[in-house]
Amino acid sequence: MKKIEEYVRSIPDFPEPGIIFRDVTSILQDADGFALAVDSMQALLDGVEVDVIAGAESRGFIFGAPIAYNLHKPFVLIRKKGKLPCETIESSYDLEYGSATIEMHKDAVTPGQKVVLVDDLIATGGTIEATARMVEELGGKVVKIITLMELEGLNGRKRLKDYDVASVICYE
Ligand code: 5GP
Repeated sequence: MKKIEEYVRSIPDFPEPGIIFRDVTSILQDADGFALAVDSMQALLDGVEVDVIAGAESRGFIFGAPIAYNLHKPFVLIRKKGKLPCETIESSYDLEYGSATIEMHKDAVTPGQKVVLVDDLIATGGTIEATARMVEELGGKVVKIITLMELEGLNGRKRLKDYDVASVICYE
């Protein structure tokens, strides 16, 4: 059986020179790869009590939704600003150039709920930290953050030190 690392395509100099982009489309295009990725991420939740799974647009949806379905838990969409139709709260975070704002529906998490955050990859940790802040603003407790990949050199763990973070693959 192939290891999950073998399904990831690494693309040098994308989206800009010096960056190695870890592509998930090569995993998703293979049924065994997709299943292995979802199963490996879901295994990180063994023993974790969870009420809600929240996924960050857009690759967090791809992995978060099947995990929520398998565990028979609700799935919450964390979206880029302006996409959600009902009352939202928002959270902004810095990018290399400028900033980004994400949103979630106000009624998506209720106080006291145990929430798991899902994304495909942690780089600086900015996206997932902004997501955690919104969940907490609604009174939810972030019980675990899971990702398929983590770029260790960008120190996302340090930024997310207050959370229980687990990923399937770590790149230096
Ligand atoms: P961060 O906010 O942790 O700096 O960046 C993580 C976000 O950027 C995630 O939502 C992720 O989808 C995206 N991202 C950054 N670099 C990569 C990469 O090399 N591969 C993939 N698949 N996503 C990336």
